[in-house]
Amino acid sequence: MALERLLKGFADFRVGYYRDHLDLFDKLATEGQSPKILIVGCADARVDPGILTQTKPGDIFTVRNIGAIVPPAQIPPDHRQHGTSAAIEYAVRGLEVEHVVILGHALCGGIAALVDGDKGAFADYDYLSTWTAVAQSVRDHALSELKDMPRAQLTRVVEQASVVNSVVNLMGFPWIAERVAVGKMVLHAWWFNLVEGQLYAFNPETAEFDPVLGLKVRPTIDKSTAFAAVRPERLIAKFAGKPAF
Ligand SMILES: [Zn+2]
Repeated sequence: MALERLLKGFADFRVGYYRDHLDLFDKLATEGQSPKILIVGCADARVDPGILTQTKPGDIFTVRNIGAIVPPAQIPPDHRQHGTSAAIEYAVRGLEVEHVVILGHALCGGIAALVDGDKGAFADYDYLSTWTAVAQSVRDHALSELKDMPRAQLTRVVEQASVVNSVVNLMGFPWIAERVAVGKMVLHAWWFNLVEGQLYAFNPETAEFDPVLGLKVRPTIDKSTAFAAVRPERLIAKFAGKPAF
């Protein structure tokens, strides 16, 4: 049934969307792709970046993984299989995207697994906790600062703090930091709340996520941002009721 639904969908696509966009597909086939935006999203089936942004084929380059996480740059490269970093590298160095968006989301199972740690349902999985441990320090810091916070709320804080952490990790790739410094690239920390259908963006001034309203959004990091202000610890401090620092 599930597979039939896919095939029915593809049949509909062939006679509908594909036929309606023949010129676009022809152009993409002959000229190649030239997206201006890379989105790093979560593999979660509920948060498809293309659907959320109503974009067309060729508009966004996308990498999706557990938790919408960017690992730290490996310098020097160790020649191991860094799938997410390879996708980021191709988008930045190959396609010269102008924006990188980290798109975290509410009710993220990957981040919930990180929060639960050894007590979680996925503690004995082979790969999952090793991957989400990219944000381990963020999780540990949130847990120690927000001891009395209910799990659901704490998970939400870690979801957002992990997005900020991933933007910080982006700046560790030299070819990203160089492009940001000269104004060729802008980085965005976004979080989508699927419960209310609202998108939020990190505001480096207040260290909070603000709702995105209309067509303008404040960049998380561009060439004029004080990069030091973009730290997950500042966001966690806000939730702990401490003044922004
Ligand atoms: Zn998720």
